[in-house]
Amino acid sequence: MHFDEYKKKTIFVTGAASGIGQAQAIAFISQGANVLGMDLDAVGLAETAEKAKNATGHFSSYVGDVTKENEIISAIEKANGLFGMIHILLNTAGILDNYAPTLETSEELWDRVLSVNLKGTFLVTNQILPQMLKQKHGVIINMASIAGMVAGGGGAAYTASKHAIIGYTKQLDHDYIKQGIRANAIAPGAIQTPMNAADFAGDGKIAEWVANETPAGRWAKPEEVASLTLFLASENADYIHGTVMTIDGGWLEK
Ligand code: NAD
Repeated sequence: MHFDEYKKKTIFVTGAASGIGQAQAIAFISQGANVLGMDLDAVGLAETAEKAKNATGHFSSYVGDVTKENEIISAIEKANGLFGMIHILLNTAGILDNYAPTLETSEELWDRVLSVNLKGTFLVTNQILPQMLKQKHGVIINMASIAGMVAGGGGAAYTASKHAIIGYTKQLDHDYIKQGIRANAIAPGAIQTPMNAADFAGDGKIAEWVANETPAGRWAKPEEVASLTLFLASENADYIHGTVMTIDGGWLEK
């Protein structure tokens, strides 16, 4: 896929140190975009920078927490200083709850999962949206999950957070569509990333079970989600608003 439109565009990606966020960052940099990746994981961000080294666009990173407004503001200032106004926001950072049912979910776990997955998305969006409104244009893509649509893709906290991200995304688009903003969510199924390392550990039986339960019969690579993101953020997708794009090997068709 080749998109001329991303050349010198500024993309802000959370969770850019690993898995899907890293693949999204690399995909945009490969199209000539300038990407600021924000993540807690400095080592992973350095790995993203290394992978982006020979691409046409530029990568810079900010080690910070999406639940902390002051760190978000500093990351945005860095992006603006290096690359100018932000055109596209990918809210990808997220954590899993190890499939804990509600009675096994402590208040601490509930708060942490909701805080990173949902509040982080809200906080980052609220800090970047004003500069998109000034430009009368902006694209926001929030990372949901099949756990945002059905049970079984996470535990109580994760599933609640991903359902809420979908609601938030629809309302965001609804409220700002007339001002040039386009917000959508992506709902991946089984994507092989460090988040799912436990499924592949040991004899790998859990990973095998997941693949067998998936109609396509396999896990996907994070690059497949990144390709969907390239399309969804592009002008080709200009009429796609406030919706959820599933990329799940047919999981939800069952
Ligand atoms: P991952 O664990 O490989 O990457 C997540 C990244 O988010 C990590 O680099 C982590 O350091 C970062 N992060 C976590 N908390 C943070 C915080 N407070 N501030 C900043 N960064 C933080 O996981 P992944 O599989 O790439 O997941 C990315 C997103 O995709 C998540 O929102 C996840 O819920 C969603 N998702 C993943 C799958 C899958 O199968 N892998 C399926 C559906 C949805």
